[in-house]
Amino acid sequence: MSVQSDKIFQSIISHAKEYGFVFPSSEIYDGLSAVYDYGPNGSELKKNIRDYWWKSMTQMHENIVGIDAAIFMHPTTWKASGHVDNFSDPMIDNKDSKKRYRVDHLIEAKADILTNEGKADEAEALLKQMDILLAAEDFVSLKQLLADNKIVCSVSGTSNWTEIRQFNLMFDTQLGSVAEDANTIYLRPETAQGIFVNFLNVQKTARMKIPFGIAQTGKAFRNEIVARQFIFRMREFEQMEMQFFVRPGTEGFWYKFWKEARLQWHLSLGIDAEKYRYHDHVKLAHYAKEACDIEFEFPFGFKEVEGIHSRSDFDLTQHQLYSKKKMQYFDNDIDETTGKAFGNYIPYVVETSIGLDRMFLLILSNSYEEETITKEDGTTDSRVVLHIPTKIAPNKLAILPLTKKDGLPELARELMDECKPYFKCFFEEKDAIGKRYRRQDAIGTPFCVTVDHQSLEDKTVTIRYRDSMLQERISMDKVKDLVLNEIF
Ligand code: ATP
Repeated sequence: MSVQSDKIFQSIISHAKEYGFVFPSSEIYDGLSAVYDYGPNGSELKKNIRDYWWKSMTQMHENIVGIDAAIFMHPTTWKASGHVDNFSDPMIDNKDSKKRYRVDHLIEAKADILTNEGKADEAEALLKQMDILLAAEDFVSLKQLLADNKIVCSVSGTSNWTEIRQFNLMFDTQLGSVAEDANTIYLRPETAQGIFVNFLNVQKTARMKIPFGIAQTGKAFRNEIVARQFIFRMREFEQMEMQFFVRPGTEGFWYKFWKEARLQWHLSLGIDAEKYRYHDHVKLAHYAKEACDIEFEFPFGFKEVEGIHSRSDFDLTQHQLYSKKKMQYFDNDIDETTGKAFGNYIPYVVETSIGLDRMFLLILSNSYEEETITKEDGTTDSRVVLHIPTKIAPNKLAILPLTKKDGLPELARELMDECKPYFKCFFEEKDAIGKRYRRQDAIGTPFCVTVDHQSLEDKTVTIRYRDSMLQERISMDKVKDLVLNEIF
């Protein structure tokens, strides 16, 4: 990361804390590594992102329904899914500093350095080589790649590495009071398995016909070896996942469909397309047939925000095997080539999986601006503004009586009472108006309305737009619809 990008990233982290978006967890005890809490503005923004996703999946697609499965699941779930045996990252320890690293992170950091030095081709070749070796689980050559590229520990500065080992990322705990192996259960590392084990419950009760999807949002837990970059990589985080069940043979079509549809969802928030790119996987997860990431240009470079995975019939087949319960679907549509019904089969699955916290960081990074304003008299001023898309901004409208007297707060309250059943509003009567505007800019409120003495006479107010800072006088009874128009 360049010095300038690092400075901006640090400013975003401080801003998130100062304005009640994100706090380190249990901060009074010095925090807990890679665990964060969301404050008043943060929890609103997070909820709005979740709702925007949920609506786009379950309301805008008639063939997608939602569920809310428990975090704890029968431990055999994770044996069947392959997580007990395969959900691990290759890691390496530096013998001098005793620091542990994920091997891919070490190599990616080196690639970032090469890119910053203007050696983008070398960086790309290095990452390609890494992908191939990771896919082959060739840890000897991977360690050689570290040596060839003179990759050292940032703490000790040495390349005195241990062998590369696999490290399982699942947290476990005990069910009930007796600590025995048989009672070991896991905190789910992904929400997807809650969907798979409920596949037939949902299909039958909601009377779904293939192709159809099941969506879920909820907490997931991973014991990340190296947690860094603020809320980008957390040990407790939230996912928004959708599993789309399809007839075998059509998965290629649906994979392309969801790859495109998911990018369009991001762009529907008005975010610049230049900031996104696809990254097709060479190393596929143990369940995957085809996979890609949607990457976003964070201040620390292009990184994954969402994964689209063609998971074949792996998960349902595994659950059928381990549970000995049929996971089949009966398809009575007619196959044109045989003239008969497609009949019983285990559906194939295309998954879309996005991290809610990562999407939150994406929105913060994309919205944050330290702006210099040139005033009419030629002097300059500055402001920090969050250009959060209106649809998901924590507050949509700030209602600001110019003074605390002369009946202005009472009139402003009338507007507040009219609007607050429809969208989140903020009411404030303290401080100079300019100061109040700046505070709203800093938390991303798209519209401010000032109620002044003229409002008492003609029921008009001044509306100020966050991004342009333009102000205009409009009739008070137009405010609610103006905001509503921007939300839907
Ligand atoms: P990474 O390569 O960054 O570890 P992943 O490929 O393991 O991520 P998936 O298993 O595909 O991630 O999970 C889907 C999504 O969940 C990711 O695209 C990301 O947005 C989110 N996610 C995964 N791990 C974390 C984490 N530790 N903290 C926050 N979000 C995460």
